[in-house]
Amino acid sequence: MKNKIGIFPGSFDPITSGHRHIIIKASKLVDLLIVAIGDNSSKKSFYPAEKRKKWAENTFKNYDNILVKKYSGLTINFAEKENAEFIFRGLRSTLDFEYEKQIAETNSVMNKEIETIFILSDRKYGMISSSIVREIIKNNGDISEFVPKEVKIS
Ligand code: ADP
Repeated sequence: MKNKIGIFPGSFDPITSGHRHIIIKASKLVDLLIVAIGDNSSKKSFYPAEKRKKWAENTFKNYDNILVKKYSGLTINFAEKENAEFIFRGLRSTLDFEYEKQIAETNSVMNKEIETIFILSDRKYGMISSSIVREIIKNNGDISEFVPKEVKIS
């Protein structure tokens, strides 16, 4: 039987408990889920890609069908390269939906064989975002409620 492969792309700057929760849900729908860490030089990140990747790898070390890879360039091209049939994204709100819809429609023009699948965030995680976590870090606050325990800020 053909392996079903999906990617879950994002910046993960840093990975949050919201990401973790939704990635585990996505991993149950495919044989292999690749967490794709965007490493585009034009998009300035707070943490280097290598660090973002390590945190994600440590977060999913006990999940056999979740792999973490870095990528640059267009997400759709990365999905093609990995023979993925699905792109998973998370939705927290209508704001996310409007933004995600535009990206998903653009991707489907570029490759209509690759389907974008949205997974709704649990209410518990709906308020967590990497940008809020970064703000807490910048102000020396406690992020332990918002990120997986594997995210260690030094
Ligand atoms: P990007 O910079 O590409 O938007 P992010 O790392 O911020 O990447 O997010 C990656 C994906 O995870 C997006 O689909 C986003 O909507 C989703 N996401 C982010 N935070 C949460 C959360 N708390 N619950 C569910 N999905 C989330």
